[in-house]
Amino acid sequence: MTNFDVDGFFERQLATWPLARKNFDALKYVRVREFMIGGFPFRVQFNPGRMISTGARMDAATIKVRKCFLCRENTPPEQTPLHVKGITGREYRFLVNPYPIFSRHLTIPAMEHTPQRILERFPDMLGFASDLDGYTIFYNGPKCGATAPDHMHFQVGNRGLMPVEDHLDSLHDVIPSAVIIESGTIGAAEEEFRKLYDSLPVKDGEVEPMMNILAWQKSDGVSTRFIIVVYPRREHRPKCYYADGDSQLLISPGSVDLGGLFIVPRERDFDRLTPENIREILNEVML
Ligand SMILES: [Zn+2]
Repeated sequence: MTNFDVDGFFERQLATWPLARKNFDALKYVRVREFMIGGFPFRVQFNPGRMISTGARMDAATIKVRKCFLCRENTPPEQTPLHVKGITGREYRFLVNPYPIFSRHLTIPAMEHTPQRILERFPDMLGFASDLDGYTIFYNGPKCGATAPDHMHFQVGNRGLMPVEDHLDSLHDVIPSAVIIESGTIGAAEEEFRKLYDSLPVKDGEVEPMMNILAWQKSDGVSTRFIIVVYPRREHRPKCYYADGDSQLLISPGSVDLGGLFIVPRERDFDRLTPENIREILNEVML
């Protein structure tokens, strides 16, 4: 599967799915602020539609009793999946994400209900990056922003919104522990990724090192390379997320936030967020 027609897929879905259409239309009205942190232009997006994800309870008991929204039998009737195969031979479905951050926002769940784990599926992630020209693929670890830690999935957003895509050189000004892998082939990238994975700590009670990953393909007209940014984590959510009353900032960072686009679902948080808050949040959640 190469050069998948994302636009055509979106047009067909938005024509027949009013909820998705309404939520994608609402994206035109999101508010954005920008802060320079070192040489990195950090963005903050006020997006009330994301409350459902940022505010989600993620404890094991809640996950256990809820119906999994990525399982085939629970997806809304309007949501028409496209069946695809990853390069490892594993099966997935392309879905339009009805609670978008990007004007083209897909979720790619595994066909079966299986926990969020990256190692064996990393090549699939790069395969999708090569199929989806102009898009960035992202992975949120089970306790690093994934809203369905019990059902393996990637997400996809159109490029141009996350500052890291164009400011890789200054990423370490704001997130010093991020690791950048650049590679011409999926095989070489996987080898580098496995080395990194094996070198990262696994917290008590966790099944893999906590991390977020962004991957995209970059072409300079002569050659094409994979860019992979791995963000090793130590905390799921920052202290300000759990603070009481006025000092609470409802921010729960995942891949997109670490790509330099903080998603803020409450307007009052959006209005008062400072570069110092951003630095503090990143210090707390990053390894
Ligand atoms: Zn499921």
